[in-house]
Amino acid sequence: LPPNCEICGAAIKSAPTTVEIDGAILGVCGSCAGRGKAVRVPARKESFIPRAARQKVEPEMEIDPDFRVMVRKSREKRGLSQEQLGRLTNLKPSVISHVESGRLKPDLVLARRLMHELHINLLVSATELEGETSGRDR
Ligand SMILES: [Zn+2]
Repeated sequence: LPPNCEICGAAIKSAPTTVEIDGAILGVCGSCAGRGKAVRVPARKESFIPRAARQKVEPEMEIDPDFRVMVRKSREKRGLSQEQLGRLTNLKPSVISHVESGRLKPDLVLARRLMHELHINLLVSATELEGETSGRDR
């Protein structure tokens, strides 16, 4: 059902104009809009809130873009070869080698094994990464 103008009662085809008349907020037709003071409805602002809230509720974790350097450096610092680290993490040395060359991006399970053995943090929240890019857009 199309909304009706709250002043003259005419059916409004598109969205009603929100105006303030004597302190009352009314949805009116185009021809009555001039009789009141235009009111800004924060409809746009509201549509942004659920998106931000959802990001806060479940922060998605991403692998740090510098993972290959971090893995190699901390392995070398510990004096471990790729074979030794492979044995500690129960991974094939070729997997370690692929990770360190950047050919293999570890998934969360693999990253956690490496983090545990090397005592490093390879995870960043997706919102942190996003925050950097959206900051550039604005
Ligand atoms: Zn009207």
